[in-house]
Amino acid sequence: MTNNDDTTSINDLKEMLKKFRDARDWKQFHTPKNLVQAISIEANELMDEFLWKTDEEIDEFLKQDNFRQTISYELADVMAFCLNFAIATNIDLSQAMNEKMIHNNEKYPIEKSKGNATKYNEL
Ligand SMILES: [Mg+2]
Repeated sequence: MTNNDDTTSINDLKEMLKKFRDARDWKQFHTPKNLVQAISIEANELMDEFLWKTDEEIDEFLKQDNFRQTISYELADVMAFCLNFAIATNIDLSQAMNEKMIHNNEKYPIEKSKGNATKYNEL
């Protein structure tokens, strides 16, 4: 497969997931509650790969193919459930992301937040 982020749309990914889901008759299990729980569970599986490692150790792990493959698969699990949640709830992710970034630009004006990790309500 030669697909990558430059050649694949969000809709392409959603269609791939729907095909996988429907071939297994799993739509019945893809309720918003189940999917949002699965997002969290998979996010924790991704986090688990970093537990107890220092930033310096992580820099070294990120040079290793097996670690990169493990975290890329966990990230794909998170993304798959995010997309499945968007499908089940009929949320257009691109529209939501665009709207959210408009809000983020308002919450974090560049002149107040550049180089500053302070939360918006404390700026
Ligand atoms: Mg996983």
